[in-house]
Amino acid sequence: VIQLGQAEHAIITTCAYCGVGCGFKAEMKGTTVVRMTPWKDGKANEGHACVKGRFAWGYATHKDRITEPMIRSSIHEPWRKVGWDEAIAYAAAEFKRIQAGYGRDAVGGISSSRCTNEEVYLVQKLVRAGFGNNNIDTCARVCHSPTGFGLSQTFGTSAGTQTFKSVEQADVILLIGANPTDAHPVFASRLKRRLRQGARLLVLDPRRIELVDAPHVRAEQHLALLPGTNVAVITAMAHVVVSEGLLAEAFIKERCEAKSFADWRAFVARAENSPEALEAVSGVPAAQVRAAARLFAAGPNSAIYYGLGVTEHAQGSTMVMGIANLAMACGMVGREGVGVNPLRGQNNVQGSCDMGSFPHELPGYRHISDSTVRGDFEADWGVQLNPEPGLRIPNMFEAALAGSFKGLYCHGEDIVQSDPNTQHVAAALAAMECVVVQDIFLNETAKYAHVLLPGSSFLEKDGTFTNAERRISRVRQVMPPLAGLADWQVTQKLANALGCPMHYEHPEQIMDEVARLTPSFAGVSYAKIERLGSVQWPCNDGTEEAGTTTMHRERFVRGKGRFFITQYLPSKEKVTRRYPLLLTTGRILSQYNVGAQTRRTANNQWHAEDRLEIHPHDAQDRGIRQDDWVGISSRAGQTVLRAELSERMQPGVVYTTFHFPESGANVITTDNSDWATNCPEYKLTAVEVVRVEQS
Ligand code: SF4
Repeated sequence: VIQLGQAEHAIITTCAYCGVGCGFKAEMKGTTVVRMTPWKDGKANEGHACVKGRFAWGYATHKDRITEPMIRSSIHEPWRKVGWDEAIAYAAAEFKRIQAGYGRDAVGGISSSRCTNEEVYLVQKLVRAGFGNNNIDTCARVCHSPTGFGLSQTFGTSAGTQTFKSVEQADVILLIGANPTDAHPVFASRLKRRLRQGARLLVLDPRRIELVDAPHVRAEQHLALLPGTNVAVITAMAHVVVSEGLLAEAFIKERCEAKSFADWRAFVARAENSPEALEAVSGVPAAQVRAAARLFAAGPNSAIYYGLGVTEHAQGSTMVMGIANLAMACGMVGREGVGVNPLRGQNNVQGSCDMGSFPHELPGYRHISDSTVRGDFEADWGVQLNPEPGLRIPNMFEAALAGSFKGLYCHGEDIVQSDPNTQHVAAALAAMECVVVQDIFLNETAKYAHVLLPGSSFLEKDGTFTNAERRISRVRQVMPPLAGLADWQVTQKLANALGCPMHYEHPEQIMDEVARLTPSFAGVSYAKIERLGSVQWPCNDGTEEAGTTTMHRERFVRGKGRFFITQYLPSKEKVTRRYPLLLTTGRILSQYNVGAQTRRTANNQWHAEDRLEIHPHDAQDRGIRQDDWVGISSRAGQTVLRAELSERMQPGVVYTTFHFPESGANVITTDNSDWATNCPEYKLTAVEVVRVEQS
């Protein structure tokens, strides 16, 4: 707490929007926030902020906030307001009834990357220890699950390798499927500063993002590939590195598995993987791919930053491994200025994955089938854990439609709006007998709920978030929860009602338990964060006190780095005469994800609707003019948006954002998904666009 002149005091906390994790001072008058100002000592932002964190916090006290629990026996009935005890007892009784009637595995939970580490940990504990199964998944399933899989397979840990500051020592920056100017603005400023100092930028993206043409930072190359062909381009770049003798031989010999490298080298060296052979697939001229590969390999420091344009594809995991392959092949891991860096969309994607919210992993990415790890948790929690991995989110929907999954605890996630193929998700929820939604607003998913438990915003609770650079920062309560309970207290009440005892008095005790049971979180404590401002995991005995800025310095976490074969496979989603265009999606600066928060703030003045960006040639072919309403149809469904003619798009590719429920972006996305993780293929949907009249 800092004493101020104007406001009465200020409390340091962390932005609840993107994965940059900016530190803020909440300037207070009593329990009212009067201003959010960026914290100059925040390591992730160093006093900078964007329009979301700085101005879009008023949703916390918006009139739409749900402040009383509600229940109903059917989704066709009106809601009935009840007290906390009645709502919790009703939810617990329903889950018990379902398990008694349909079996232990008929229920599950979904946690959110918007929630704190401590809350996510409790939700997965409730599912594993209270429900007795592993049907726990997280919304990271639909964004960065391929990062978790791909980086753990290649490097041995599911996290970015660097701090944001590391970019200040990069000479070449390869940006893939990411648009930091809109989605990670404070990191984008740092990136631009480095580019203005002379670093060279390679952009691999179907869309001509702002950084391609930004003043004084013009990209060296914009590799404008066709959506869905990332793996073809990264493999072609690897082919150039191998065939032109650009490999970092000494690094590979010392740091990587010889056999996996030899297999990979033989694979990428094949003529069919050359830039010339793959040019027709990706649409990227071979000469451009060759130039980009040479520049990347030359470095001397080349860093890769990537976003959901990598992961949200049928080959998302393959592409993450392709990125890791390229970094290892060129020796670009293990020091400042290099590395592989996933830019996380939500504030706590990294943390929610760390906390064991995938159905096959306990906290710290340890497989549920490992009896030693399971034994540690069993001894601490006093339960027997199920060794079988549980259902992923899409499997829960399939099981619901098949009649074997009947109850869901959905914490802080609007799956109806954010998951692909909305009709499919809605049908699955409608088939369940008890859906419990814990959220701050009556969201789209709540339309299918039987119990609504009011959630709390980041201003109403204590806890921690972990940003994209593994930095754990404090979230501090600045005002009491509007509904009387913070999220972690609600989960604790529900767990107790289910017969899973939890008696935490403060989130600090939850973090102490995490640190006790999770080697990668050993050494993390509120006291240390208080003293240092933030810490980066791992921060145990073998590291600097504030943790690890650069991973894999002397050796990879898994020992030797492992190369993987990255065979390009075309997506099942194909253009046809009926659906001749490819739709891809992304974000805009002033809005955030499904817009539940930012739509309820003044940020709406900058962007109040989702639009369809279409190249002028495609628009002209269809008689579409600027601002016309257009109907967009895909194999999954159809929606209507206003047209935005834009040369950011290449002909044949259209683009939209997904911030408004009425625009229905996910009504048209299909349920194709990544082969390894089921991350949806949001970035590639074959569509047709026609001009329509809209009253
Ligand atoms: Fe918040 Fe991200 Fe903006 Fe920082 S860059 S203020 S974390 S939204």
